[in-house]
Amino acid sequence: MATENKLQELATTAPSAQEQRFTGERWLTARGSWTIFPQLCKGCGLCIERCPVAVISWASDFGAYGTNRVTVDADGCVTCRTCAYYCPDAALSVVVN
Ligand code: SF4
Ligand code: SF4
Repeated sequence: MATENKLQELATTAPSAQEQRFTGERWLTARGSWTIFPQLCKGCGLCIERCPVAVISWASDFGAYGTNRVTVDADGCVTCRTCAYYCPDAALSVVVN
Protein backbone atom coordinates (compact mmCIF):
# COMPACT_ATOMS: atom_id res chain seq x y z
CA MET A 1 0.00 0.00 0.00
CA ALA A 2 2.79 2.39 0.95
CA THR A 3 4.54 1.63 -2.35
CA GLU A 4 1.33 2.36 -4.27
CA ASN A 5 1.01 5.71 -2.52
CA LYS A 6 4.59 6.60 -3.37
CA LEU A 7 4.07 5.73 -7.04
CA GLN A 8 0.90 7.79 -7.09
CA GLU A 9 2.80 10.73 -5.64
CA LEU A 10 5.54 10.43 -8.25
CA ALA A 11 3.00 10.18 -11.03
CA THR A 12 1.35 13.41 -10.01
CA THR A 13 4.48 15.45 -9.32
CA ALA A 14 6.92 14.37 -12.04
CA PRO A 15 6.71 16.66 -15.11
CA SER A 16 5.46 15.12 -18.31
CA ALA A 17 7.69 15.15 -21.36
CA GLN A 18 5.71 18.10 -22.67
CA GLU A 19 6.07 20.01 -19.40
CA GLN A 20 9.82 19.49 -19.09
CA ARG A 21 11.82 22.68 -19.52
CA PHE A 22 15.42 23.05 -20.64
CA THR A 23 17.75 25.91 -19.88
CA GLY A 24 19.33 27.60 -22.87
CA GLU A 25 22.60 29.48 -23.06
CA ARG A 26 22.00 32.35 -25.45
CA TRP A 27 24.53 34.41 -27.36
CA LEU A 28 23.83 37.52 -29.44
CA THR A 29 25.20 37.43 -32.97
CA ALA A 30 25.52 40.23 -35.51
CA ARG A 31 22.17 39.33 -37.10
CA GLY A 32 20.27 37.63 -34.27
CA SER A 33 20.99 35.04 -31.62
CA TRP A 34 22.43 31.56 -31.12
CA THR A 35 21.19 29.35 -28.28
CA ILE A 36 22.44 25.98 -27.06
CA PHE A 37 20.41 23.73 -24.75
CA PRO A 38 23.21 21.72 -23.08
CA GLN A 39 20.81 19.13 -21.66
CA LEU A 40 19.88 18.16 -25.20
CA CYS A 41 23.35 18.14 -26.79
CA LYS A 42 24.68 14.62 -27.24
CA GLY A 43 28.08 15.71 -28.49
CA CYS A 44 27.85 14.28 -31.99
CA GLY A 45 29.83 17.14 -33.52
CA LEU A 46 27.65 17.53 -36.61
CA CYS A 47 27.22 21.26 -36.00
CA ILE A 48 30.98 21.73 -35.75
CA GLU A 49 31.43 19.84 -38.99
CA ARG A 50 28.77 21.84 -40.88
CA CYS A 51 29.40 25.41 -39.69
CA PRO A 52 30.73 27.27 -42.76
CA VAL A 53 32.82 29.70 -40.70
CA ALA A 54 34.09 27.26 -38.04
CA VAL A 55 32.90 29.19 -34.99
CA ILE A 56 31.45 26.22 -33.05
CA SER A 57 33.81 24.34 -30.75
CA TRP A 58 33.73 21.89 -27.84
CA ALA A 59 32.96 23.33 -24.42
CA SER A 60 34.71 21.99 -21.34
CA ASP A 61 31.46 21.05 -19.61
CA PHE A 62 29.11 18.20 -20.40
CA GLY A 63 25.81 17.69 -22.14
CA ALA A 64 23.10 15.04 -22.29
CA TYR A 65 25.15 11.85 -22.04
CA GLY A 66 28.21 13.03 -20.17
CA THR A 67 29.88 13.92 -23.44
CA ASN A 68 31.26 17.37 -24.15
CA ARG A 69 28.69 19.79 -25.47
CA VAL A 70 29.40 22.66 -27.85
CA THR A 71 29.73 26.43 -27.57
CA VAL A 72 30.11 29.26 -30.09
CA ASP A 73 32.31 32.23 -30.87
CA ALA A 74 29.28 34.46 -31.40
CA ASP A 75 31.28 37.35 -32.89
CA GLY A 76 32.07 35.26 -35.94
CA CYS A 77 28.66 33.62 -36.36
CA VAL A 78 26.89 34.72 -39.55
CA THR A 79 23.51 33.47 -38.25
CA CYS A 80 23.03 31.17 -41.23
CA ARG A 81 21.11 28.54 -39.16
CA THR A 82 22.99 25.63 -40.74
CA CYS A 83 23.99 24.21 -37.35
CA ALA A 84 20.40 24.24 -36.08
CA TYR A 85 19.23 22.59 -39.28
CA TYR A 86 21.68 19.70 -38.93
CA CYS A 87 21.44 19.17 -35.15
CA PRO A 88 19.59 15.85 -34.79
CA ASP A 89 18.42 16.60 -31.25
CA ALA A 90 17.17 20.20 -31.62
CA ALA A 91 19.80 21.31 -29.12
CA LEU A 92 20.45 24.51 -31.09
CA SER A 93 18.18 27.42 -31.86
CA VAL A 94 19.33 30.19 -34.21
CA VAL A 95 17.08 33.21 -34.61
CA VAL A 96 17.57 35.80 -37.33
CA ASN A 97 16.36 39.32 -36.40
S1 SF4 B 1 24.39 29.87 -37.41
FE1 SF4 B 1 25.81 29.35 -39.11
S2 SF4 B 1 27.65 30.56 -38.70
FE2 SF4 B 1 26.46 30.53 -36.80
S3 SF4 B 1 27.29 28.83 -35.63
FE3 SF4 B 1 25.53 28.03 -36.80
S4 SF4 B 1 26.41 27.21 -38.70
FE4 SF4 B 1 27.98 28.53 -37.76
S1 SF4 C 1 24.72 18.79 -33.64
FE1 SF4 C 1 23.44 19.15 -31.83
S2 SF4 C 1 23.73 17.32 -30.56
FE2 SF4 C 1 25.39 17.33 -32.07
S3 SF4 C 1 27.10 18.39 -31.02
FE3 SF4 C 1 25.95 19.94 -32.16
S4 SF4 C 1 24.46 20.79 -30.68
FE4 SF4 C 1 25.22 18.84 -29.87
